[in-house]
Amino acid sequence: MQSGAADALAVVHDHILVCTDCPLHLRRIQAVPGTGPAGARIMAVGEGPGETEDRLGKPFVGAAGNVLTKLLESIGLRRDDIYITNVVKCRPPGNRDPEPSEMEACSHYLDAQIEIIRPDVILILGRHALARLLPGAGGISGLHGRRVVRGDRLYVPLYHPAAALYQASLMRTLEDDMLKVRGYLEEAEARRRQPGEPLLRLVPPEPGEPVLRLEPPDAGEAAPAPEPPARDQLSLF
Ligand code: URA
Repeated sequence: MQSGAADALAVVHDHILVCTDCPLHLRRIQAVPGTGPAGARIMAVGEGPGETEDRLGKPFVGAAGNVLTKLLESIGLRRDDIYITNVVKCRPPGNRDPEPSEMEACSHYLDAQIEIIRPDVILILGRHALARLLPGAGGISGLHGRRVVRGDRLYVPLYHPAAALYQASLMRTLEDDMLKVRGYLEEAEARRRQPGEPLLRLVPPEPGEPVLRLEPPDAGEAAPAPEPPARDQLSLF
């Protein structure tokens, strides 16, 4: 892909590495901008770096990262093909939850990453990423494994991989949700081979309506809707 996007992403990474916008920079070893290709079709967004990530400068390389890698591989995805990042780019001390002010200070970096990469699907890892990316959409227990369209983006919220380390039953839930993700990607691939049949139709909201639509697994796919203007179509893969 586009060296323009790779260059733009590198600039964002360079800014993150020297960022002093919030107090998290004071105790970091290093900032953790994100890893993966600028042309990634899938992006995964976690909460914030932990101890290992702070040391190595890469996201999801500790115990939670092992879970994430296995989950991706369980549906045939290669970790290296996915762009992985976090809501906050510096480790909250003691792995505490990031403060709202810290998430706010960091938010323009994630916005820029999404804007540059323009992934077809964003996997939201855990409740902090959910609150940041889909404010007001609801809790993780109700949304995990579901497709959510907001604006012109497609999201799939998932439990945070670390949660499965503490609560074994969540591993099964995560595995089941990943199978759904695979189904979404396969559907998208099939749609891409049938021009004129977009996977999703983005319905511009009425004034005052929230720009949010939940997409149940097979909603709206039996009968194609009337042809919308091209800019309202989201085609994946
Ligand atoms: N947990 C996260 O949310 N992000 C990481 O990078 C590692 C653990």
